[in-house]
Amino acid sequence: MKKFKILDQETIKQINKKNIIQLLYNKSQITKQEIAKELHISIPTVISNVNELIEEGYLDEAGVAESTGGRKPIIVRFLPDARYSFGVCITPSKIRIALINLNLEIIKEDEFKLSEDIESIDTIMDKIKECVDELVNGFNIPKDKIIGVGFSLPGTVNEEELLLVNAPNLKLNNIDFKKYEKLYNYKFFIENEANAAAYAETFLNPDKVIKNLVFVSITEGIGAGVMINDNLYKGNNKRAGEFGHMTIVKDGKQCNCGKKGCFELYASEKALINKYNEGFNVKDKNLKEFFRLTKADEKAKEILYSYIDYLAEGIKNIILITDPEEIIIGGKIAYYEEYFKELLMKKVFEKNSFYTKEECQLSFSKLKENASILGASLMTMQEIFFTSKKII
Ligand SMILES: [Zn+2]
Repeated sequence: MKKFKILDQETIKQINKKNIIQLLYNKSQITKQEIAKELHISIPTVISNVNELIEEGYLDEAGVAESTGGRKPIIVRFLPDARYSFGVCITPSKIRIALINLNLEIIKEDEFKLSEDIESIDTIMDKIKECVDELVNGFNIPKDKIIGVGFSLPGTVNEEELLLVNAPNLKLNNIDFKKYEKLYNYKFFIENEANAAAYAETFLNPDKVIKNLVFVSITEGIGAGVMINDNLYKGNNKRAGEFGHMTIVKDGKQCNCGKKGCFELYASEKALINKYNEGFNVKDKNLKEFFRLTKADEKAKEILYSYIDYLAEGIKNIILITDPEEIIIGGKIAYYEEYFKELLMKKVFEKNSFYTKEECQLSFSKLKENASILGASLMTMQEIFFTSKKII
């Protein structure tokens, strides 16, 4: 016989509080009566939970609304600066550190570049700590208002053990973040960068409910975050979504992961920039300069078309494997969608007997290169907003 879990009073209360806070996060202010109606809970339950949330500093009362008969309803307001967290994005070329409030707004950020010969992870973590401490002191934030530090990492992450299992592009493996958590004295959360981005993209899109999506993060490498039925799918060994390392060219270029012909060697931002630098015999050029050239220059167009060919092949495979409602392309390249979206769509949705563009949307991230850092910060807020970890 199927067993039902019996929820105790305390659990029910926690669920109600989280639902209230999520509702307030979306609506920013609302009356107690409206909360009761939206969440299908009684007014006394709303009052007692709201009082606790006011005491904890998450909400306050902000006047009264017009009465529709009887006493004027009290308006409750969400206080986004009740707590803060840090989002930290570690990539092979630079580290970004952002102080973020509960509205997922970046209050202030800092970054530093990594030198060519990769510095030791101890040194990197020391430098990040310095930045974190400076931001906390600079804004005079009491330490108990910081709920944690969330790290977005380019590799396989065991978030339960706080272990970065493997990050080929950083040449790191088995890095235990518990060691650094002790040094920082803040609670740590770690996640793969594309997973973090997928998470942010789902949460920060309250108007459009997408339960099944794949976020393809195009940066120096390519990662993917897979959301299935509103949960992040991490797989049996936390490696799901490593689409950047699926073989796109048999016996192709040598990858840092040990394999050959991986998707990211042909379709990452780095791959595109390298082709541009090689083709035009230039150095240190960026995406902006490249895409501007593609307007008129035939050679630049050729480089772009070849890039889109590879990108489309990979996306087609991802659609066949995961059958999502939406594929979201993220990373800096999302700023330049106008230059290649049409062609990419044409190639991805060319005649096939499986799917049409009506069945699977292809879009570009609205959060652009902030998706991962916001997702990392969102991980620290799980206990405030969500009743479960949303990871399967
Ligand atoms: Zn690879």
